[in-house]
Amino acid sequence: MSESKKTEEKKTKSKTVKTKKSDSSAKAAEKKTIKKVVKKAKAEDVIAEVVVPADVAAAQAKPLKKEPEVKIEEAVKEIVEDLGPRRSVAFIGSECYPFVKTGGLADVMYALPKELVKQNCDVKVIIPRYKCIPWKFQEKMVYRGEYYMDLFADGKQFYVGIMEYEWDGVVYDFIDNEELFTSGNPYTNMVDDIPKFCYFSKAALSALLYLDWIPDVIHCHDWQAALTPIYLRTLFANTKLASSKTIMTVHNLRFQGIYSLDAIKYWSGLPDYVFNKDVLVQNYNDANMLKGGLAYADMISTVSNTYAGEIQSEFYGEGLDAHLRYHSGKLRGIVNGIDCEIWNPETDERIFKNYNTEDAIANKKANKVELQKELGLTVDENKFVIGLISRLTNQKGLDLVNAIVPQMVDGFTQLVVLGTGDPGYEDSFRYYENAYKGEVCSCIQYDEDRAHRIYASADALLVPSLFEPCGLTQLIAMRYGTAPIVRETGGLKDTVEPYNMYEDSGNGFTFDGYDAGLLLDAINRAKTLYFEHRESYDAMVIRDMEKDVSWKLSAAQYRQLYLQLKP
Ligand code: ADP
Repeated sequence: MSESKKTEEKKTKSKTVKTKKSDSSAKAAEKKTIKKVVKKAKAEDVIAEVVVPADVAAAQAKPLKKEPEVKIEEAVKEIVEDLGPRRSVAFIGSECYPFVKTGGLADVMYALPKELVKQNCDVKVIIPRYKCIPWKFQEKMVYRGEYYMDLFADGKQFYVGIMEYEWDGVVYDFIDNEELFTSGNPYTNMVDDIPKFCYFSKAALSALLYLDWIPDVIHCHDWQAALTPIYLRTLFANTKLASSKTIMTVHNLRFQGIYSLDAIKYWSGLPDYVFNKDVLVQNYNDANMLKGGLAYADMISTVSNTYAGEIQSEFYGEGLDAHLRYHSGKLRGIVNGIDCEIWNPETDERIFKNYNTEDAIANKKANKVELQKELGLTVDENKFVIGLISRLTNQKGLDLVNAIVPQMVDGFTQLVVLGTGDPGYEDSFRYYENAYKGEVCSCIQYDEDRAHRIYASADALLVPSLFEPCGLTQLIAMRYGTAPIVRETGGLKDTVEPYNMYEDSGNGFTFDGYDAGLLLDAINRAKTLYFEHRESYDAMVIRDMEKDVSWKLSAAQYRQLYLQLKP
């Protein structure tokens, strides 16, 4: 939907609200009804309402109605207070901040368990013990045991060590195997990674049995843990773990763990009957680990409501849209949050000058000037600084950015890029840095400290993704009072309310079609507000900082899912 249409829609909505305001009795009646809905809202209702209807084409054309969202938020707020029975949950995934991180999955594996322990859950996080985990964590791990586990179809024995680390109420169990987890990077190439994560998916279950920790729910994340639900219902069907339920969360459908059928059959050691077209087989000759996990999991979730709908369409479905439509009855969308202690401009030690909503406008400028000095940009607090913090892949809409850098950098605007990835994008951003010295800075690196400084110093952050399951950078940006400029897809659509000049509301600037002209238009709208209506821009900075981007509500929704999955 175009921005103008939206503002029109909002205008009409605000008129309706005004009319209602004058009719106090109608308002009271409406309030009562909402209250009833909230009171009646049990776990199932709340989560069920979050699901996008199966008719994806329609869902894409028309965004979900605003009204139910309000009800859901209110209902969930109530549920946050009502903790319900205790649940034990094992998180199984391939990375977790601060031990090892390549993307948003690591942030979720860290922050969601931490919030869940505050909400009446026992959580164990199981990840591989990679050699690259910093020594300061390795040295604090406690040895919990070791044994051998058979894996391949020929029963080859593999060592499994369990090292434990407890922190902030969450127990982390690291699966140790030097042969498999020695690389400096968690992911190398599929020939090595597929057997590595077959091993990990099975070892995680065997470790739970070894530790005699039988969780109510086994929560598996992405393809690296996707065989776990299948192992559970096949090779572990006659163990104590059989009572546990499983959730498979898709953080990014693009990555599925696909390899030759014969190889995965051999490496996984799974029985022949799961190698059929409804579970693991894809295109006759290949096996798809994520596809199998989705089929066997008791529940599927993904990281935003809009993405839950999008992935059922051919464009976003990455070849699994039909499979997901078939399993849509157990598919839910729950948006991610961020850890508001790590990402807190008031206490963040990595930024130049701390700030809160009281002094954000002045202190963000001070941060901007320091960043300009650090990066060799022209020092001028009045320039509009746009940040881009991203993996440099085609998912992130970088073709659009590349197409418009010359128009964007107009003497009043600076661009700061932080990212690594495809050499083509790295080179093009290096080129722009050279072509627009002092106005564009491309930091082709992974640097968390610098990321914090850019979030704090920039005026806006670009996230023009081709697709974005949830996206964390726009949430972090808002926490730091940096207006996100995003494409309306996936979680970006669910978390960034477009600026509305008539109501002076919204959190950022959005565009819908995947088109460089539309991105430039959104950037120009941001610049117009910044240069011509600074009070409105500053008010948005404060609104962004006040927006609740924490895990509280989302964790409550996960807890409701766990409660639904009664053992
Ligand atoms: P994805 O998981 O697709 O990479 P997300 O937006 O979900 O994207 O999460 C990206 C996370 O990685 C954010 O915490 C972001 O700050 C961080 N990040 C991305 N690139 C870099 C980089 N070059 N240096 C530091 N942090 C980065």
